Amino acid sequence: MSTFQAPKGTYDLIPPDSATYLAVREAIAAPLRNSGYGYIETPGFENVELFARGVGESTDIVTKEMYAFETKGGDKLALRPEGTASVLRAALEANLHKTGNLPVKLWYSGSYYRYERPQKGRYRHFSQVGAEAIGAEDPALDAELIILADQAYRSLGLRNFRILLNSLGDKECRPVYRAALQDFLRGLDIDEDTRRRAEINPLRVLDDKRESVQKQLTGAPLLRDYLCDACKTYHEEVRELITAAGVAFEDDPKLVRGLDYYTRTTFEFVHDGLGSQSAVGGGGRYDGLSEMIGGPALPSVGWALGVDRTVLALEAEGVELDIPASTSVYAVPLGEEARRVLFAKITELRKVGIAADFAYGGKGLKGAMKSANRSGARYALVAGERDLAEGVVQLKDMRSGEQTAIGVNEIVAELESRLG
Ligand code: ATP
Ligand code: MG
Repeated sequence: MSTFQAPKGTYDLIPPDSATYLAVREAIAAPLRNSGYGYIETPGFENVELFARGVGESTDIVTKEMYAFETKGGDKLALRPEGTASVLRAALEANLHKTGNLPVKLWYSGSYYRYERPQKGRYRHFSQVGAEAIGAEDPALDAELIILADQAYRSLGLRNFRILLNSLGDKECRPVYRAALQDFLRGLDIDEDTRRRAEINPLRVLDDKRESVQKQLTGAPLLRDYLCDACKTYHEEVRELITAAGVAFEDDPKLVRGLDYYTRTTFEFVHDGLGSQSAVGGGGRYDGLSEMIGGPALPSVGWALGVDRTVLALEAEGVELDIPASTSVYAVPLGEEARRVLFAKITELRKVGIAADFAYGGKGLKGAMKSANRSGARYALVAGERDLAEGVVQLKDMRSGEQTAIGVNEIVAELESRLG
Protein backbone atom coordinates (compact mmCIF):
# COMPACT_ATOMS: atom_id res chain seq x y z
CA MET A 1 0.00 0.00 0.00
CA SER A 2 1.20 3.54 -0.71
CA THR A 3 0.89 6.56 1.57
CA PHE A 4 -2.33 7.48 -0.19
CA GLN A 5 -5.80 6.06 -0.30
CA ALA A 6 -8.82 6.86 -2.44
CA PRO A 7 -10.65 9.87 -0.94
CA LYS A 8 -13.54 9.23 1.43
CA GLY A 9 -16.71 8.19 -0.34
CA THR A 10 -14.88 7.05 -3.49
CA TYR A 11 -13.57 3.74 -4.73
CA ASP A 12 -11.49 2.51 -7.63
CA LEU A 13 -12.76 0.33 -10.42
CA ILE A 14 -10.19 -2.37 -10.99
CA PRO A 15 -10.04 -5.59 -12.98
CA PRO A 16 -11.76 -7.97 -13.02
CA ASP A 17 -14.75 -6.16 -11.41
CA SER A 18 -14.34 -3.13 -13.65
CA ALA A 19 -15.45 -5.31 -16.59
CA THR A 20 -18.88 -5.59 -14.95
CA TYR A 21 -19.14 -1.79 -14.78
CA LEU A 22 -18.28 -1.42 -18.43
CA ALA A 23 -20.84 -4.09 -19.32
CA VAL A 24 -23.52 -2.33 -17.25
CA ARG A 25 -22.81 1.00 -18.94
CA GLU A 26 -22.94 -0.69 -22.30
CA ALA A 27 -26.19 -2.51 -21.51
CA ILE A 28 -27.88 0.74 -20.48
CA ALA A 29 -26.59 2.58 -23.53
CA ALA A 30 -27.48 -0.10 -26.09
CA PRO A 31 -31.27 0.44 -26.15
CA LEU A 32 -30.69 4.21 -26.40
CA ARG A 33 -28.29 3.92 -29.33
CA ASN A 34 -30.89 1.73 -30.94
CA SER A 35 -33.63 4.34 -30.52
CA GLY A 36 -32.22 7.48 -32.07
CA TYR A 37 -30.26 8.87 -29.13
CA GLY A 38 -26.91 10.48 -30.01
CA TYR A 39 -23.95 10.50 -27.63
CA ILE A 40 -23.10 13.74 -25.82
CA GLU A 41 -20.22 14.50 -23.48
CA THR A 42 -20.04 17.67 -21.42
CA PRO A 43 -17.35 18.94 -19.02
CA GLY A 44 -17.02 17.53 -15.52
CA PHE A 45 -17.59 21.01 -14.10
CA GLU A 46 -19.85 23.91 -14.97
CA ASN A 47 -20.62 27.41 -13.85
CA VAL A 48 -22.10 26.90 -10.38
CA GLU A 49 -25.04 29.12 -11.29
CA LEU A 50 -26.22 26.59 -13.89
CA PHE A 51 -26.88 24.05 -11.15
CA ALA A 52 -28.21 26.60 -8.67
CA ARG A 53 -30.82 27.62 -11.23
CA GLY A 54 -31.25 24.36 -13.06
CA VAL A 55 -31.35 21.92 -10.15
CA GLY A 56 -32.91 24.38 -7.70
CA GLU A 57 -31.61 26.67 -4.94
CA SER A 58 -33.56 24.84 -2.26
CA THR A 59 -32.58 21.28 -3.15
CA ASP A 60 -30.22 19.19 -1.02
CA ILE A 61 -28.04 18.78 -4.08
CA VAL A 62 -27.36 22.51 -4.32
CA THR A 63 -27.44 23.46 -0.63
CA LYS A 64 -25.50 20.52 0.82
CA GLU A 65 -24.07 18.18 -1.77
CA MET A 66 -22.34 20.29 -4.39
CA TYR A 67 -18.57 20.54 -4.75
CA ALA A 68 -18.38 24.25 -5.52
CA PHE A 69 -15.12 26.14 -5.80
CA GLU A 70 -13.56 29.31 -7.10
CA THR A 71 -10.75 29.08 -9.62
CA LYS A 72 -7.54 31.12 -9.53
CA GLY A 73 -9.12 33.25 -12.24
CA GLY A 74 -12.14 33.95 -10.04
CA ASP A 75 -14.67 31.74 -11.86
CA LYS A 76 -17.25 30.11 -9.62
CA LEU A 77 -17.57 26.51 -10.73
CA ALA A 78 -18.99 23.25 -9.41
CA LEU A 79 -18.26 19.61 -10.15
CA ARG A 80 -21.37 18.33 -11.85
CA PRO A 81 -23.80 16.71 -9.40
CA GLU A 82 -26.13 15.50 -12.19
CA GLY A 83 -26.36 15.50 -15.95
CA THR A 84 -29.57 17.10 -17.13
CA ALA A 85 -28.73 20.77 -16.62
CA SER A 86 -25.36 20.37 -18.39
CA VAL A 87 -26.83 18.45 -21.33
CA LEU A 88 -29.57 21.02 -21.83
CA ARG A 89 -27.03 23.84 -21.52
CA ALA A 90 -24.85 22.19 -24.18
CA ALA A 91 -27.79 21.51 -26.52
CA LEU A 92 -28.91 25.16 -26.28
CA GLU A 93 -25.37 26.44 -26.75
CA ALA A 94 -24.97 24.36 -29.92
CA ASN A 95 -28.46 25.38 -31.13
CA LEU A 96 -29.42 21.73 -31.53
CA HIS A 97 -33.03 22.74 -30.90
CA LYS A 98 -33.02 25.02 -33.94
CA THR A 99 -32.30 22.36 -36.54
CA GLY A 100 -36.03 21.75 -36.93
CA ASN A 101 -35.60 18.18 -35.84
CA LEU A 102 -37.25 17.92 -32.45
CA PRO A 103 -37.01 16.18 -30.12
CA VAL A 104 -33.24 16.30 -29.79
CA LYS A 105 -32.43 12.89 -28.32
CA LEU A 106 -29.15 12.55 -26.43
CA TRP A 107 -27.49 10.03 -24.14
CA TYR A 108 -24.49 10.38 -21.86
CA SER A 109 -22.32 8.41 -19.50
CA GLY A 110 -19.95 9.71 -16.89
CA SER A 111 -18.89 10.62 -13.36
CA TYR A 112 -20.96 12.74 -10.99
CA TYR A 113 -20.01 14.26 -7.65
CA ARG A 114 -22.04 14.85 -4.52
CA TYR A 115 -20.80 15.61 -1.05
CA GLU A 116 -22.94 13.04 0.75
CA ARG A 117 -22.55 10.89 3.83
CA PRO A 118 -20.88 7.84 2.30
CA GLN A 119 -22.55 4.47 2.78
CA LYS A 120 -23.19 1.40 0.68
CA GLY A 121 -24.68 2.60 -2.61
CA ARG A 122 -24.08 6.25 -1.75
CA TYR A 123 -20.75 7.68 -2.80
CA ARG A 124 -19.18 11.07 -3.38
CA HIS A 125 -18.08 10.07 -6.83
CA PHE A 126 -20.46 7.86 -8.77
CA SER A 127 -21.39 7.01 -12.30
CA GLN A 128 -24.57 7.49 -14.29
CA VAL A 129 -25.80 6.75 -17.77
CA GLY A 130 -28.55 9.12 -18.78
CA ALA A 131 -30.87 10.05 -21.61
CA GLU A 132 -32.64 13.29 -22.48
CA ALA A 133 -35.28 13.96 -25.15
CA ILE A 134 -35.45 17.71 -25.61
CA GLY A 135 -38.13 19.82 -27.22
CA ALA A 136 -41.26 17.69 -27.52
CA GLU A 137 -44.35 17.25 -25.43
CA ASP A 138 -45.59 13.81 -26.33
CA PRO A 139 -46.65 11.09 -23.91
CA ALA A 140 -45.09 8.51 -26.26
CA LEU A 141 -41.70 10.05 -25.55
CA ASP A 142 -42.14 9.69 -21.78
CA ALA A 143 -43.28 6.11 -22.39
CA GLU A 144 -40.31 5.41 -24.68
CA LEU A 145 -37.80 6.38 -22.00
CA ILE A 146 -39.45 4.27 -19.32
CA ILE A 147 -39.64 1.30 -21.69
CA LEU A 148 -35.96 1.67 -22.68
CA ALA A 149 -34.80 1.76 -19.05
CA ASP A 150 -36.89 -1.32 -18.35
CA GLN A 151 -35.34 -3.02 -21.37
CA ALA A 152 -31.83 -2.11 -20.19
CA TYR A 153 -32.36 -3.57 -16.72
CA ARG A 154 -33.98 -6.70 -18.12
CA SER A 155 -31.18 -7.24 -20.64
CA LEU A 156 -28.80 -7.32 -17.67
CA GLY A 157 -30.90 -10.04 -16.08
CA LEU A 158 -32.38 -7.88 -13.30
CA ARG A 159 -35.85 -8.88 -12.18
CA ASN A 160 -36.51 -7.54 -8.68
CA PHE A 161 -36.91 -3.90 -9.58
CA ARG A 162 -40.09 -1.87 -9.61
CA ILE A 163 -41.08 1.21 -11.54
CA LEU A 164 -42.83 3.90 -9.52
CA LEU A 165 -44.83 6.42 -11.52
CA ASN A 166 -46.51 9.71 -10.72
CA SER A 167 -47.49 13.00 -12.31
CA LEU A 168 -46.38 16.27 -10.73
CA GLY A 169 -48.82 18.41 -12.71
CA ASP A 170 -47.85 21.56 -14.55
CA LYS A 171 -47.84 25.29 -13.98
CA GLU A 172 -51.65 25.29 -14.14
CA CYS A 173 -52.46 22.82 -11.44
CA ARG A 174 -49.35 22.46 -9.32
CA PRO A 175 -49.61 25.89 -7.63
CA VAL A 176 -53.12 25.04 -6.44
CA TYR A 177 -51.90 21.76 -5.00
CA ARG A 178 -48.82 23.38 -3.54
CA ALA A 179 -51.00 25.79 -1.57
CA ALA A 180 -53.24 22.99 -0.33
CA LEU A 181 -50.23 20.92 0.75
CA GLN A 182 -48.69 23.92 2.46
CA ASP A 183 -51.90 24.45 4.43
CA PHE A 184 -51.80 20.85 5.53
CA LEU A 185 -48.11 20.99 6.49
CA ARG A 186 -48.56 24.16 8.54
CA GLY A 187 -50.95 22.23 10.77
CA LEU A 188 -48.31 19.58 11.59
CA ASP A 189 -45.91 19.40 14.50
CA ILE A 190 -42.65 19.31 12.55
CA ASP A 191 -39.06 20.38 13.17
CA GLU A 192 -37.65 23.76 12.17
CA ASP A 193 -35.84 22.46 9.06
CA THR A 194 -38.89 20.71 7.71
CA ARG A 195 -41.04 23.74 8.43
CA ARG A 196 -38.67 25.88 6.39
CA ARG A 197 -38.71 23.35 3.59
CA ALA A 198 -42.52 23.35 3.68
CA GLU A 199 -42.43 27.08 2.97
CA ILE A 200 -39.84 26.98 0.16
CA ASN A 201 -40.67 23.70 -1.53
CA PRO A 202 -43.51 21.84 0.19
CA LEU A 203 -43.57 18.97 -2.33
CA ARG A 204 -40.14 17.91 -1.19
CA VAL A 205 -41.41 17.28 2.31
CA LEU A 206 -43.26 14.31 0.80
CA ASP A 207 -39.84 12.89 -0.10
CA ASP A 208 -38.68 12.90 3.55
CA LYS A 209 -37.22 9.49 4.30
CA ARG A 210 -37.88 9.59 8.08
CA GLU A 211 -40.65 7.29 9.23
CA SER A 212 -41.89 9.74 11.86
CA VAL A 213 -42.44 12.35 9.15
CA GLN A 214 -44.02 9.84 6.77
CA LYS A 215 -46.50 8.91 9.52
CA GLN A 216 -47.60 12.51 9.87
CA LEU A 217 -48.07 12.73 6.12
CA THR A 218 -50.90 10.18 6.06
CA GLY A 219 -53.91 12.13 4.96
CA ALA A 220 -51.87 14.79 3.17
CA PRO A 221 -53.57 16.03 0.00
CA LEU A 222 -52.37 14.12 -3.07
CA LEU A 223 -51.42 15.73 -6.35
CA ARG A 224 -53.44 13.27 -8.37
CA ASP A 225 -56.63 14.78 -6.91
CA TYR A 226 -55.54 18.21 -8.13
CA LEU A 227 -54.32 17.45 -11.67
CA CYS A 228 -55.87 19.65 -14.38
CA ASP A 229 -57.60 17.93 -17.30
CA ALA A 230 -54.62 18.34 -19.63
CA CYS A 231 -52.26 16.73 -17.11
CA LYS A 232 -54.75 13.95 -16.36
CA THR A 233 -55.16 13.09 -20.05
CA TYR A 234 -51.40 13.22 -20.61
CA HIS A 235 -50.66 10.97 -17.67
CA GLU A 236 -53.35 8.51 -18.64
CA GLU A 237 -51.80 8.16 -22.09
CA VAL A 238 -48.34 7.56 -20.67
CA ARG A 239 -49.79 4.84 -18.44
CA GLU A 240 -51.63 3.22 -21.34
CA LEU A 241 -48.56 3.18 -23.60
CA ILE A 242 -46.34 1.62 -20.95
CA THR A 243 -48.98 -0.94 -20.13
CA ALA A 244 -49.42 -1.82 -23.80
CA ALA A 245 -45.66 -2.39 -23.99
CA GLY A 246 -45.97 -4.96 -21.24
CA VAL A 247 -43.97 -2.92 -18.74
CA ALA A 248 -45.33 -3.20 -15.20
CA PHE A 249 -45.37 -0.14 -12.96
CA GLU A 250 -46.89 1.06 -9.71
CA ASP A 251 -48.70 4.34 -9.26
CA ASP A 252 -47.01 6.19 -6.41
CA PRO A 253 -48.94 9.37 -5.62
CA LYS A 254 -46.25 10.51 -3.18
CA LEU A 255 -43.31 10.20 -5.56
CA VAL A 256 -41.80 13.68 -5.98
CA ARG A 257 -38.00 13.29 -6.41
CA GLY A 258 -35.39 15.72 -5.20
CA LEU A 259 -34.94 18.05 -8.13
CA ASP A 260 -36.99 21.20 -8.64
CA TYR A 261 -37.34 21.07 -12.38
CA TYR A 262 -39.72 18.15 -12.82
CA THR A 263 -43.24 18.56 -14.25
CA ARG A 264 -45.89 15.98 -15.13
CA THR A 265 -44.40 12.49 -15.60
CA THR A 266 -42.07 11.48 -12.77
CA PHE A 267 -40.70 8.01 -12.22
CA GLU A 268 -38.18 6.10 -10.21
CA PHE A 269 -36.71 2.64 -10.56
CA VAL A 270 -36.24 0.98 -7.19
CA HIS A 271 -34.59 -2.30 -6.38
CA ASP A 272 -35.72 -4.26 -3.36
CA GLY A 273 -32.34 -5.78 -2.56
CA LEU A 274 -30.50 -2.54 -1.81
CA GLY A 275 -31.73 -1.46 1.62
CA SER A 276 -32.26 2.26 2.01
CA GLN A 277 -30.27 3.20 -1.13
CA SER A 278 -33.02 1.58 -3.17
CA ALA A 279 -33.27 3.97 -6.13
CA VAL A 280 -31.31 2.59 -9.06
CA GLY A 281 -32.52 5.30 -11.41
CA GLY A 282 -35.02 8.02 -11.90
CA GLY A 283 -36.25 10.72 -14.15
CA GLY A 284 -39.17 12.58 -15.54
CA ARG A 285 -40.44 15.46 -17.56
CA TYR A 286 -38.91 18.90 -17.06
CA ASP A 287 -40.88 21.29 -19.22
CA GLY A 288 -39.71 24.42 -17.39
CA LEU A 289 -35.97 23.80 -17.13
CA SER A 290 -34.91 25.39 -20.41
CA GLU A 291 -36.53 28.69 -19.50
CA MET A 292 -35.06 28.49 -16.01
CA ILE A 293 -31.57 28.52 -17.49
CA GLY A 294 -32.34 31.29 -19.99
CA GLY A 295 -33.42 29.25 -23.02
CA PRO A 296 -36.68 29.10 -24.97
CA ALA A 297 -39.61 26.95 -23.91
CA LEU A 298 -38.52 23.36 -24.61
CA PRO A 299 -40.63 20.67 -23.00
CA SER A 300 -38.33 17.71 -22.34
CA VAL A 301 -38.07 14.40 -20.57
CA GLY A 302 -35.16 12.27 -19.40
CA TRP A 303 -33.71 9.85 -16.91
CA ALA A 304 -30.44 8.93 -15.25
CA LEU A 305 -29.59 5.44 -14.09
CA GLY A 306 -26.95 4.88 -11.43
CA VAL A 307 -24.25 2.48 -12.61
CA ASP A 308 -22.87 1.78 -9.10
CA ARG A 309 -26.25 0.85 -7.68
CA THR A 310 -27.13 -1.20 -10.76
CA VAL A 311 -23.99 -3.26 -10.13
CA LEU A 312 -25.03 -3.67 -6.47
CA ALA A 313 -28.49 -4.74 -7.64
CA LEU A 314 -26.92 -7.42 -9.85
CA GLU A 315 -24.96 -8.67 -6.83
CA ALA A 316 -28.09 -8.62 -4.68
CA GLU A 317 -29.90 -10.79 -7.21
CA GLY A 318 -26.89 -13.04 -7.70
CA VAL A 319 -26.73 -12.25 -11.42
CA GLU A 320 -23.33 -12.91 -12.98
CA LEU A 321 -22.85 -11.20 -16.32
CA ASP A 322 -21.43 -13.34 -19.07
CA ILE A 323 -18.24 -11.42 -19.78
CA PRO A 324 -16.01 -13.06 -22.41
CA ALA A 325 -12.31 -13.40 -21.62
CA SER A 326 -10.47 -10.38 -22.94
CA THR A 327 -7.54 -12.40 -24.31
CA SER A 328 -7.95 -15.14 -26.94
CA VAL A 329 -4.34 -16.01 -27.62
CA TYR A 330 -1.37 -15.94 -25.22
CA ALA A 331 2.18 -16.20 -26.51
CA VAL A 332 4.85 -17.99 -24.50
CA PRO A 333 8.36 -17.53 -25.97
CA LEU A 334 11.25 -19.63 -24.74
CA GLY A 335 14.46 -17.85 -25.66
CA GLU A 336 15.50 -14.71 -27.53
CA GLU A 337 14.69 -15.86 -31.06
CA ALA A 338 11.20 -16.98 -29.95
CA ARG A 339 10.61 -13.60 -28.29
CA ARG A 340 11.21 -11.81 -31.59
CA VAL A 341 9.12 -14.22 -33.67
CA LEU A 342 6.16 -14.44 -31.29
CA PHE A 343 6.13 -10.73 -30.53
CA ALA A 344 5.80 -10.07 -34.27
CA LYS A 345 3.03 -12.68 -34.47
CA ILE A 346 0.91 -11.22 -31.67
CA THR A 347 1.22 -7.82 -33.32
CA GLU A 348 -0.11 -9.38 -36.52
CA LEU A 349 -2.92 -11.15 -34.66
CA ARG A 350 -3.98 -7.90 -33.01
CA LYS A 351 -4.07 -6.20 -36.41
CA VAL A 352 -6.59 -8.73 -37.69
CA GLY A 353 -8.69 -8.22 -34.57
CA ILE A 354 -7.68 -11.21 -32.47
CA ALA A 355 -7.12 -10.32 -28.80
CA ALA A 356 -3.60 -11.44 -27.98
CA ASP A 357 -1.16 -11.06 -25.10
CA PHE A 358 2.46 -12.00 -24.44
CA ALA A 359 4.52 -13.39 -21.55
CA TYR A 360 6.59 -10.31 -20.75
CA GLY A 361 9.45 -10.12 -18.33
CA GLY A 362 11.36 -13.22 -19.41
CA LYS A 363 9.26 -15.71 -17.41
CA GLY A 364 10.14 -19.40 -17.43
CA LEU A 365 7.76 -21.90 -19.06
CA LYS A 366 5.92 -22.68 -15.81
CA GLY A 367 5.29 -19.07 -14.82
CA ALA A 368 4.37 -18.13 -18.37
CA MET A 369 1.83 -20.97 -18.64
CA LYS A 370 0.29 -19.84 -15.35
CA SER A 371 -0.14 -16.36 -16.81
CA ALA A 372 -1.62 -17.86 -19.96
CA ASN A 373 -4.17 -19.67 -17.81
CA ARG A 374 -5.00 -16.59 -15.79
CA SER A 375 -5.54 -14.54 -18.94
CA GLY A 376 -8.46 -16.76 -19.89
CA ALA A 377 -6.97 -17.24 -23.37
CA ARG A 378 -8.42 -20.06 -25.44
CA TYR A 379 -5.05 -20.78 -27.09
CA ALA A 380 -1.41 -20.52 -26.11
CA LEU A 381 1.40 -20.24 -28.64
CA VAL A 382 4.55 -21.82 -27.26
CA ALA A 383 7.86 -21.78 -29.11
CA GLY A 384 11.43 -22.71 -28.24
CA GLU A 385 14.62 -22.85 -30.28
CA ARG A 386 13.98 -26.39 -31.51
CA ASP A 387 10.47 -25.50 -32.74
CA LEU A 388 11.74 -22.48 -34.62
CA ALA A 389 14.54 -24.47 -36.20
CA GLU A 390 11.79 -26.61 -37.72
CA GLY A 391 9.77 -23.54 -38.69
CA VAL A 392 6.92 -24.36 -36.30
CA VAL A 393 5.33 -23.25 -33.01
CA GLN A 394 3.21 -25.31 -30.61
CA LEU A 395 -0.45 -24.31 -30.58
CA LYS A 396 -2.04 -25.40 -27.33
CA ASP A 397 -5.79 -25.55 -26.87
CA MET A 398 -6.13 -24.40 -23.26
CA ARG A 399 -9.51 -26.08 -22.84
CA SER A 400 -8.68 -29.58 -24.08
CA GLY A 401 -4.94 -29.41 -23.39
CA GLU A 402 -4.36 -30.70 -26.92
CA GLN A 403 -1.16 -29.44 -28.56
CA THR A 404 -0.31 -29.31 -32.28
CA ALA A 405 2.67 -28.03 -34.19
CA ILE A 406 1.79 -25.45 -36.85
CA GLY A 407 3.97 -23.58 -39.30
CA VAL A 408 5.08 -20.10 -38.23
CA ASN A 409 3.55 -18.69 -41.40
CA GLU A 410 0.21 -20.39 -40.73
CA ILE A 411 -0.34 -18.97 -37.23
CA VAL A 412 -2.60 -16.09 -38.20
CA ALA A 413 -4.74 -18.01 -40.68
CA GLU A 414 -5.04 -21.02 -38.36
CA LEU A 415 -6.15 -18.92 -35.37
CA GLU A 416 -8.52 -16.87 -37.50
CA SER A 417 -10.27 -20.02 -38.62
CA ARG A 418 -10.26 -21.67 -35.17
CA LEU A 419 -11.60 -18.56 -33.41
CA GLY A 420 -14.23 -18.06 -36.07
P1 ATP B 1 -31.33 9.21 -3.55
O1 ATP B 1 -32.77 9.46 -3.24
O2 ATP B 1 -30.91 7.80 -3.29
O3 ATP B 1 -30.41 10.22 -2.92
P2 ATP B 1 -31.40 10.80 -5.91
O4 ATP B 1 -32.84 11.08 -6.08
O5 ATP B 1 -30.55 11.82 -5.28
O6 ATP B 1 -31.21 9.39 -5.14
P3 ATP B 1 -30.92 11.12 -8.73
O7 ATP B 1 -30.46 12.50 -8.62
O8 ATP B 1 -32.26 10.84 -9.29
O9 ATP B 1 -30.77 10.37 -7.31
O10 ATP B 1 -29.82 10.29 -9.57
C1 ATP B 1 -30.17 9.16 -10.38
C2 ATP B 1 -29.49 7.90 -9.88
O11 ATP B 1 -28.12 8.12 -9.63
C3 ATP B 1 -30.02 7.38 -8.56
O12 ATP B 1 -31.19 6.64 -8.75
C4 ATP B 1 -28.88 6.53 -8.07
O13 ATP B 1 -28.88 5.25 -8.69
C5 ATP B 1 -27.69 7.29 -8.56
N1 ATP B 1 -27.11 8.09 -7.47
C6 ATP B 1 -27.50 9.31 -7.02
N2 ATP B 1 -26.71 9.73 -6.02
C7 ATP B 1 -25.79 8.75 -5.83
C8 ATP B 1 -24.68 8.59 -4.95
N3 ATP B 1 -24.35 9.53 -4.06
N4 ATP B 1 -23.94 7.46 -5.04
C9 ATP B 1 -24.26 6.49 -5.94
N5 ATP B 1 -25.28 6.59 -6.79
C10 ATP B 1 -26.04 7.71 -6.75
MG1 MG C 1 -29.78 12.10 -3.38
